[in-house]
Amino acid sequence: MQSLWSDGDAERMVAHYGDNGIGRDLAERVYTSRLLGGDPRLVLHGGGNTSVKTTAADLHGDAVEALCVKGSGWDMAAIEPAGLPAVRLAPLRRLRGRDALSDEDMVRFQRANLLDPGAPNPSVETLLHAFLPHKFIDHTHATAVLSLADQPDAEERCRDLYRGRLGIVPYIMPGFLLAKAAAEIFENDEAVEGLVLLKHGIFTFGDTARAAYERMVDAVSGAEERLAQGRKPVFAGAALPNAVAALAEVAPIVRGACALPAARSGEYKRFVLDFRTGAAVRAFVDGAELQRYGTEGVATPDHTIRTKNYPLIVPAPSAGRPGDFAAAVRQAVAAFVAEYHAYFARHNRGNKRELDPMPRIVLVPGVGLFGLGRSAKDAAIAADLAESWVATVTDAEAVGRFESLSEAELFEMEYWSLEQAKLGTVQEKPLAGQVALVTGGAGTIGLATARALRQAGAEIALIDRDASVNDAATKLGGIGIAGDVTDPDAVRQAFDRVVGRFGGVDIVVSNAGAAWQGRIGEVSERVLRDSFELNFFAHQWVAQNAVRVMLAQKTGGALLFNVSKQALNPGAEFGPYGLPKAATLALMRQYALDYGKAGIRANAVNADRIRGGLLTPAMIAARAQARGVGEAEYMGGNLLGHEVTAEDVAEAFLGLALARNTTGSFVTVDGGNIAAAPR
Ligand code: ZN
Repeated sequence: MQSLWSDGDAERMVAHYGDNGIGRDLAERVYTSRLLGGDPRLVLHGGGNTSVKTTAADLHGDAVEALCVKGSGWDMAAIEPAGLPAVRLAPLRRLRGRDALSDEDMVRFQRANLLDPGAPNPSVETLLHAFLPHKFIDHTHATAVLSLADQPDAEERCRDLYRGRLGIVPYIMPGFLLAKAAAEIFENDEAVEGLVLLKHGIFTFGDTARAAYERMVDAVSGAEERLAQGRKPVFAGAALPNAVAALAEVAPIVRGACALPAARSGEYKRFVLDFRTGAAVRAFVDGAELQRYGTEGVATPDHTIRTKNYPLIVPAPSAGRPGDFAAAVRQAVAAFVAEYHAYFARHNRGNKRELDPMPRIVLVPGVGLFGLGRSAKDAAIAADLAESWVATVTDAEAVGRFESLSEAELFEMEYWSLEQAKLGTVQEKPLAGQVALVTGGAGTIGLATARALRQAGAEIALIDRDASVNDAATKLGGIGIAGDVTDPDAVRQAFDRVVGRFGGVDIVVSNAGAAWQGRIGEVSERVLRDSFELNFFAHQWVAQNAVRVMLAQKTGGALLFNVSKQALNPGAEFGPYGLPKAATLALMRQYALDYGKAGIRANAVNADRIRGGLLTPAMIAARAQARGVGEAEYMGGNLLGHEVTAEDVAEAFLGLALARNTTGSFVTVDGGNIAAAPR
């Protein structure tokens, strides 16, 4: 790797922060922290940390000797001065005299010595930074270094490569004891420029930001060069089926098998999937010895909280035999869960709370890998860490043999008391882990519904004929698909894309519609058929695909139809619109009847008179005029006398998505219309 240091960029950052009262030390610290954080080969997702020893003002404005060290929750790639909280240095250094310090006491001590009591928690590696004397200290989990440090003979390999330039620290879990050991190893040879932490990562130091950073670049480059020499071929391929099943078929089966039944019957704790493949991933997952190197363990300890210790490995899926694959995956998940319980029982001494037993990475030979998370963001993090782990293990195997931590060390990390203390403190949203697809997603009602589902925690996919659907979806962190729901092939492709992106689908809001008018005895065949295509058949294509995915997942699901009050209370000369809507109401009931046993619920919303829905401003003006009333009076012309909004309709859809014991039903959202009441 190359140094990205630029005097010009560094000075620009010093000048920029100088205008905001931030000194040179901290500004340069921010600059090289971002250089390190921006390279995924060095750190990923909050991994790694950096520090600078400087003077900072306390709340009196008095200058104090302080350690500015990365705060938890900050990512180095985008760090700001606020992400490097200042801690009084002298009290931290005094801690070295102790024999032991619990993690809880360490955190309390660090917080008590923050210059700003509102600052984030300093890194758990703060004491390691404090006990070393250097002004700038950089720490990464560089994959190239880990490929050498995760070996049975890692110590000899690192000594041979760095020849006394870096000290070697045996594996100790992050915290007080690691900080003490690292300081002692440095003091044995104060000429070292850094430390390799076996099975963990690397530290480099310097008097300047540039020196510490460039020593990191040099050390990592040295590891890269070493890995390029004397490689042996790795991962001889296993036999794969002649034809391997497509991602769209594989993902819902994996996703469903990894869902956990919830305490309330009929509900599941689901995961979102993030799929990765490519030459490196395929060589890894297709390898004949995958069971050996694939279950050895993580590349660096802090990944275990995101990925668990090792992934679930399932058999390669043969095309056209989804039933066989589903059975094999369910068996593999059951074995993984049983082993997880046994692992917990083997190592739990005391009162740890067992975490959910489901994998966070799934390897599928012939296909690729999935990251799993309770949100798309968490799934992507797991997948990023998995790809980085694949790179580390591949290089480690090419020059030797990958070896991770012992099971007891992995348990100590996964069940770290600081992590256990966070359990139950975050209230999850009601639709966390669920994937919702909304048709007509760029329209007023579709978009309001998608927003409501997103706020409740669901991942969002929008389909619409209008190209603005992409921007609308991006704002919700989801995917937009420009497509015509009256085309069965396009609907199938849209579902394949959603499944490819999130792993499956749980809530489908079949909302796309448009109004056609005409007196029924005189209307043209074309108009009637066009309306049936969109207002009836499109609902069928969407529901059919939804059910196909939901049945593969075996975790139920919610079908929601926008039916309109026309289905119950036809308007004069609106037959071409009302007739297919009435058929769609019947369609909803048929799905409720045919798929209730599979836990799939079908419900509808009957909305009326929604501004911006099918009602254009010109239509509102014309109708108000025809009735001889003002627009506001026309829009509020219902029993309650209120205008009904798209957000009201969205709330009804959300309510039905959450109503676990309601199916075959509809909700009116029209402010009250007695003529539309069923009898
Ligand atoms: Zn670390």
